[in-house]
Amino acid sequence: MGVNDQTGGAAVPQNLVHARPDDPFTSMVSDGLADHGYVLARADDLITWARTGSLMWLTFGLACCAMEMMQAAMPRYDMERFGFAPRGTPRHSDVIIVAGTLTNKMAPAIRKIYDQMPEPRYVISMGSCANGGGYYHYSYSVVRGVDRILPVDVYVPGCPPTAEALLYGIMQLQKRIRRTGSIKR
Ligand code: SF4
Repeated sequence: MGVNDQTGGAAVPQNLVHARPDDPFTSMVSDGLADHGYVLARADDLITWARTGSLMWLTFGLACCAMEMMQAAMPRYDMERFGFAPRGTPRHSDVIIVAGTLTNKMAPAIRKIYDQMPEPRYVISMGSCANGGGYYHYSYSVVRGVDRILPVDVYVPGCPPTAEALLYGIMQLQKRIRRTGSIKR
């Protein structure tokens, strides 16, 4: 059965018909279009849906974890299929991925970059070093967790975490944004 057959002629976008099962809003839109040909939704839900599907991320690769972050952006894992696309400037970014060991020397720079990001902004801490200092926890030069500098939303564990783990972290961030709403953080 074709897409148009289900809706009495109204064309339903293919990307909505094949909604991701973990996205209840997309499923609701898809079902509404298939059943009625129109959808009623709250503005907050629409904004959240658009936001979670277009998160621009700022890379902050500090050490070996950044290799897995790059791998997650390559075609094999293709983070952009979640609308999670890289940006080269903090002023256009919604999410910062801190991937690697944060030193005391670098801490003021990362805080400055974070302060340049527009609200609402989110932080993913990737790997043991960013999460808590990791191997270098007792080093005089290392920050014992990026959450001492930035408010972290999602921690991705591992040394290094796999690209799959980072993808899972991104999906957890999307879930969190859906749960907390978009107008007010
Ligand atoms: S957590 Fe492990 S892989 Fe990641 S930056 Fe630290 S030492 Fe490197």
